[in-house]
Amino acid sequence: MANKTGTIVKESLDALLDDQTFLPELKEQAREKAFTSLVSILSTPNHVSKSFLRVALENGKVVRIPAFRVQHNNILGPYKGGIRFHESVNEDEVVNLSSLMTLKNALHDVPFGGGKGGVVINPREYEAKELNLICRKYVQYFSQIIGPDKDIPAPDVGTGAREMDWMMGEYKSINPGQNYRGSFTGKSVANGGSLGRRVATGKGVYFTFRYLMHDFMKQQHKWLTERDNKFAKTALDYYDKSLTIAIQGFGNVGSVAALEAFQCNHLNNKVVAVSDRNVTLYNSDGLDIPGLVKFTENNNGDLPTNEEELKEANVKADIRDNQELLLLDVDVLFLAALEDQIHKENMESIKAPIIVEGANAPITGDADKFLSDKGKVIVPDILANAGGVIVSYFEWLQGRETQFYSEEEVFSKLFTKMQETFDTVLPQYFGDPFPLRQNCYIHSVMKLSTILYRQGKLY
Ligand code: GLU
Repeated sequence: MANKTGTIVKESLDALLDDQTFLPELKEQAREKAFTSLVSILSTPNHVSKSFLRVALENGKVVRIPAFRVQHNNILGPYKGGIRFHESVNEDEVVNLSSLMTLKNALHDVPFGGGKGGVVINPREYEAKELNLICRKYVQYFSQIIGPDKDIPAPDVGTGAREMDWMMGEYKSINPGQNYRGSFTGKSVANGGSLGRRVATGKGVYFTFRYLMHDFMKQQHKWLTERDNKFAKTALDYYDKSLTIAIQGFGNVGSVAALEAFQCNHLNNKVVAVSDRNVTLYNSDGLDIPGLVKFTENNNGDLPTNEEELKEANVKADIRDNQELLLLDVDVLFLAALEDQIHKENMESIKAPIIVEGANAPITGDADKFLSDKGKVIVPDILANAGGVIVSYFEWLQGRETQFYSEEEVFSKLFTKMQETFDTVLPQYFGDPFPLRQNCYIHSVMKLSTILYRQGKLY
């Protein structure tokens, strides 16, 4: 299988087979057979749907826009995952992202499978009316395969509550009388969305980092110092120190993680750099994140790009090229932009010893191996950025039960769930030689294989 997730799934399964922990009740030959079926099940999606949405633009032109919905796996429950609006979306990417959703949900015990959607447009180039039409067409074209018990889309890059509200509205028109509330998550609160959903991914990303580098280190300090493990050594070197942080991406995930880091003021950690598609802003004393958030809210999501705009935002910073952020000499790098940001060409110049993946798949396979071999602590996407889909699950539950959780309740449930996952995964990570990504994959695959086996589907 060509894609990155498939390769790591295969490697993780190899490790499981060697370890004899994979379906231990089976005899040697039967285990190997089950293993081969599992590789084929997890490395291919169940369904790939593609359509060309026919949309009349405001200028009278009629265009055909490629759109996808990939349903990777529903072993644990209905397919679940976002819809991405981006000009470079393609089928392979959506397949890869859908398989990450299967693994992410399994890792955190969320009763959903994995799916993902994509529409090949740059949403910044369309008017609201046109985007509304694109959203409605998407639902019309894929209406047979989506639904609260079949496949539940959510926001992703380029989409948000507005698009989910529109899509749910269309779903409701197509399916009168059905429970439409759970058909989409990430909706606005006024339209049945959950409090806390908008900030859930960014908050969860920062919580993951904090838990790993502080709470877990504190609890397990003695045990960790006794480990002969390169990742434990790296983490211990940076434990209980004031850390410098750089954040790539200042959208829904990056800006919220930055704000958490700023407000948390934990051990005097400082966000010294942030970047977006235009620029990197750097200040060795720490950036005024609330000032930058306020500026982006009034400027189409963009960070200040020149002295005049910095003045307007009342923020002090050096303006640098947007690619420079990754190469800064900082302690922690949060990757909260798009995939494949650290790759073969720049991997040798990455200085940060701790990297947290807020985006999905921001490091290529080669770079991941290279950086892990050097002992860098890489906190993988499926562990760190699951806050969004976990709160989506709470939203779906609230829609089903016609209940409404307070914001406090949502965050408390979210952090409890994430913490449960960390407490199973982290001791293994620091106890064996695999990178954390592989450890997480092993956990997910174990869960999926046990269920498949119990249901008699692994032969
Ligand atoms: N797009 C988000 C993700 O990649 C959220 C998906 C969801 O809420 O279903 O995890």
